[in-house]
Amino acid sequence: MRTKSARRLAGLFVFASLLSGAAQALPLASVDAACRQLTGRLKGVSARECQASGLNAAGVGTVQGQPILFRDYLASSRRSTPKRILLVGGIHGDELSSVVVSFDWMRRLAAEKFQPFHWRVVPCLNPDGLLKALPTRVNARGVDLNRNFPTPRWAELAPKYWETRTKRDHRRWPGPGPGSEPETRWLVQQIKSFRPDAIVSVHAPYGVLDFDGPRAPPRKLGFLNLNELGTYPGSLGNFAGVQLGLPVITLELPHSAETPTPSQSARIWSDLLTWLDKNLPKGEPPLYQRLADQNWARNAP
Ligand SMILES: [Zn+2]
Repeated sequence: MRTKSARRLAGLFVFASLLSGAAQALPLASVDAACRQLTGRLKGVSARECQASGLNAAGVGTVQGQPILFRDYLASSRRSTPKRILLVGGIHGDELSSVVVSFDWMRRLAAEKFQPFHWRVVPCLNPDGLLKALPTRVNARGVDLNRNFPTPRWAELAPKYWETRTKRDHRRWPGPGPGSEPETRWLVQQIKSFRPDAIVSVHAPYGVLDFDGPRAPPRKLGFLNLNELGTYPGSLGNFAGVQLGLPVITLELPHSAETPTPSQSARIWSDLLTWLDKNLPKGEPPLYQRLADQNWARNAP
């Protein structure tokens, strides 16, 4: 299982590294400016809080010149080598609650005394969609980032799914090619370099919990119950969960504009930590250590 999973990771990472880079259209905004713009759209997160939260700007940004903001939180417990968790909000720009909840959990991470994981938090992967006059699911180029990940046979399956199953829904266009978008490419690169042991992806508004990858899925996190929605060509769950064999927990909050109450958010967070603690095997080193000796190029399929 480990070898198979490592081989798949190797092959996809080689493929991902071949994806072409698009030129930056605009110079990147500063973190301070990006925080002012983002929080202008969010209820309950101030520009000052965002600016003081230790977010870094990724070296690459969106076509509108927005930096993708992220930061790491180290484990507060040093008992063993920490597993790594990647938390991503705002893949869809009109799901504002997913960004607010990501900020809420960043607050918790900053205050948490006994959390055992190394987190990388990306509160909003699609700032261009969020900052549109009317926020959009898609990015500035009209691409649904959650259909743009380089899954197998993308060129054949993703456009076909879009045409036949979504009837060319403009909110679900997978883009001109796999990994065509800077936001998608950056996240693929993060998965390659950070090598998370699990990914938590926050969405809205279906009010359920979805899961892809190995391990038994959580049946319930706070008030969200498991309801597996299926996988799609080009989705993050397909790319990281099915192809790379990483557990991908997708939280679908019940409303896009309305954020869960503080106690609901706290309950989801605490159940999430409990599930991760129980389901990422303690005896097994973190993925970045297990893959450290792999020759990825040689293992490509
Ligand atoms: Zn979504």
